[in-house]
Amino acid sequence: MNPSFSSFLVNDVFGDPGLFVEVRWSKRALLFDLGHNDALGPTRLLRASDIFISHTHMDHFIGFDTLLRVALGRGKTLRLHGPSGLIANVEGKLHGYTWNLVDGYPLTITVHEFQAEGIKTATFLATDGFQRHDEPSSPLSGCTDDGAFTVLRDPMFTVQASALNHRIPSLAYALQEQFHMNFNKERLHAAGLPVGYWLKEVKHYFWQGKPDDFRFIATLYHEHHKEEREFLLGEIRERFVTITRGQKIAYVVDARYDADNERKIVALARGADIFYCEAPYLDRDADKARDRYHLTARQAGILAKHAGVRELVVFHFSPRYTDLGHEIEKEAREAFRGK
Ligand SMILES: [Zn+2]
Ligand SMILES: [Zn+2]
Repeated sequence: MNPSFSSFLVNDVFGDPGLFVEVRWSKRALLFDLGHNDALGPTRLLRASDIFISHTHMDHFIGFDTLLRVALGRGKTLRLHGPSGLIANVEGKLHGYTWNLVDGYPLTITVHEFQAEGIKTATFLATDGFQRHDEPSSPLSGCTDDGAFTVLRDPMFTVQASALNHRIPSLAYALQEQFHMNFNKERLHAAGLPVGYWLKEVKHYFWQGKPDDFRFIATLYHEHHKEEREFLLGEIRERFVTITRGQKIAYVVDARYDADNERKIVALARGADIFYCEAPYLDRDADKARDRYHLTARQAGILAKHAGVRELVVFHFSPRYTDLGHEIEKEAREAFRGK
């Protein structure tokens, strides 16, 4: 399988937490948390269309400024999603600067705040000096018995979240590709069909759930000419596409180990291909972890095991363990795999 998402941590395991997920072949990315993110560089930061914030403790939000700076004047819309209080936090950040010369800087920031009572939305425009414009609130959707709800629904994927107890709500996220499509290039080639933009259109028809008898006209670019041709979606499905289960990535940071959090995390991360989970403490310091509403490496491993994930990546290590990163990883691995 040629995965649609490629993901990596923004920083070293001892650095600020953050996850960058590239949506391949689309020049688009998703970003989870805004800790220090200079390491990403402007090109990657600008690709992030949607940013998912767990909570706004400083190590998860200080990178907002870097993002704002590179996004100014690019005609972009940034969408931020996060817990209660995020709109006021963004407003506070924006009011920390002077904005009298930004008339020609078309930047829009839309912030969605998710809480049990519903979704609050506010928009800030560079053209009016980032005044806050509140929009009507809407109810949560996609709610499950395990406390999850939908944050973003895209034709290709959905992002679900669950509010964990970190003494304040800390949102955990799961990114789920609807299903995965693989085009067989050899068969396309043998049938005299080029690869190219038309296959993207075909993907959209599949994501939209169009039926097999759906007909469409595609523009095919051959080496020396272009051609308009009619296809039947069912024929493409049968001859050229393999459809398999979609990829899933889960991201969990800053949460206490308790029954309620465990139930929510296990349900949200269930069957993930990669489970990114915080592990700030070694289990010998489990009491400190509990006092500070964080997980230990062993607890991260247990959660990964119960959720039946394929791969566990631990990060957000406390600086008290500098040079002991391998111990944290070992402890998590042993609890996850039993070796
Ligand atoms: Zn925190
Ligand atoms: Zn943190």
